[in-house]
Amino acid sequence: MKFDVVVIGGGPAGYPAAIRAAQNKLKVACVDEWKNFDGTYAFGGTCLNAGCIPSKALLESSELFLRAREEFATHGIGFGDLKLDLAAMQRRRASIVKTMTGGILALFKSNGVVGMQGHGRLLPGNQVEVAAPDGTKTLLTATDVVLASGSTPIRLKSVPHDGVHIVDSWNALEFDAVPKRLGVIGAGVIGLELGSVWRRLGSEVTMIEAVDQLLPMVDQTIAKEALRHFRKLGLDIKLGAKVSGATVNGDVVEVEYADAKGAQKLIVDKLVVAVGRRPFTEGLLAGGTGIEIDARGFIPVDEHCRTKVPHVWAVGDVVRGPMLAHKGKEEGVMVADLIAGRAAEVNYKVIPSVIYTAPEIAWVGQTEEEVKASGRAYKVGSFPFAASGRARAMEAGLGVTKIISAVDNDDILGIHIIGPMAGELIGEAVLAMEYSASTEDLQRTIHAHPTLSEALHEASLAVDKRAIDAFNR
Ligand SMILES: Cc1cc2nc3c(=O)[nH]c(=O)nc-3n(C[C@H](O)[C@H](O)[C@H](O)COP(=O)(O)OP(=O)(O)OC[C@H]3O[C@@H](n4cnc5c(N)ncnc54)[C@H](O)[C@@H]3O)c2cc1C
Repeated sequence: MKFDVVVIGGGPAGYPAAIRAAQNKLKVACVDEWKNFDGTYAFGGTCLNAGCIPSKALLESSELFLRAREEFATHGIGFGDLKLDLAAMQRRRASIVKTMTGGILALFKSNGVVGMQGHGRLLPGNQVEVAAPDGTKTLLTATDVVLASGSTPIRLKSVPHDGVHIVDSWNALEFDAVPKRLGVIGAGVIGLELGSVWRRLGSEVTMIEAVDQLLPMVDQTIAKEALRHFRKLGLDIKLGAKVSGATVNGDVVEVEYADAKGAQKLIVDKLVVAVGRRPFTEGLLAGGTGIEIDARGFIPVDEHCRTKVPHVWAVGDVVRGPMLAHKGKEEGVMVADLIAGRAAEVNYKVIPSVIYTAPEIAWVGQTEEEVKASGRAYKVGSFPFAASGRARAMEAGLGVTKIISAVDNDDILGIHIIGPMAGELIGEAVLAMEYSASTEDLQRTIHAHPTLSEALHEASLAVDKRAIDAFNR
């Protein structure tokens, strides 16, 4: 079969590449091998099946449960016994995932993309061999091939995964009972989100993090505030604690780790290993394709996602840069436009990051630590959500918005938010930075009252000590 473009991988990097290529009037196939625990195949990759979407479904449900338990009375809302129906919560999660992954098939159909379920392997000469689940092999030839094979959780040899007691993030999204004691190795983004879900539903959660600082990539004003809130939620976060091994003993897991005080032992019912993800390229490349894999397992590409081999591109988690769905999506779309001869690029300096805890954390641009290290003169403005009428009305007055601006030309260098709906609020910050808005531009932009977005406005005013609704320090 002959195509203009064959995409290997149907996750958030691969499927948008396929759709955009088809919108560019190219003949496109997208091959994906994702298989769910129930044996069904689905497009959407990690993000839709085992990552972004199911985690957010459970974060939403568990947050509502927590608020019903601890906050509704403050609003004057009372009810009888609060019950948790985890099976129903999990059915909701599964049904959202099914709707979203099914939606990709519908999008493929309406754009004329041929979706193929099976394993794709790049052969020399831009050919792709597809092995279907029933073993049938089909040979595809393509003018351009896009590799979007994604990533997989890192496993620790000394903590042997069994999928029941010692699990990865995917297993931890599908627990059918709330573990009494949950251990999480790694207090990064995924560990914190999963730890939050199960803590809110009643688990005693202990998180063991090797680094002695929480979220080192986050602006430290925000990270320090986050640590306070997470500990208040009851997450027992142990920093500077290194796990040396774990063993399943009957129905419990014994975890050995060392911290500043020496050797320690932790006993839990389930242990989640959330120490990061690595690029996934197993079985992707036949010999002689000319595609290299670097020491860390990534496929090397240039800033336009070109590999060393003409007409072979690579996008998403399998290439350098943050492992984020939206970064992969923009790379996929860029590549599909470049293949069609259009101009396209990704602005890697303005990629937002969000941690969907409560309060949420979101940021774009440089942290204060990075700006300080760069030597550029800067000023900082911040605004606490405690001073936001809307946040107060939402019973969500925790957190702060912080803007870092350049002294020389008033450029916005970074915006960092911890607080309600931070992940939504960061959209305005991204737009401002993408269009090179100055701090004064933000100051002169009218924000509706009472909204959470006023926090951005007031923080921009605070940069020049002209905030109206907060003390200027
Ligand atoms: C618990 C969790 C929560 C997350 N939450 C967020 C979030 O909130 N926001 C965010 O931006 N990111 C989040 N992520 C990260 C996000 O899921 C990834 O960045 C994103 O999925 C990467 O997209 P991708 O298309 O590059 O790879 P993937 O989504 O991994 O997709 C790759 C696809 O290619 C298929 N494949 C691989 N090799 C082959 C082959 N040879 N033949 C055929 N098919 C193949 C795989 O089966 C898979 O379906 C989360 C991740 C996890 C684990």
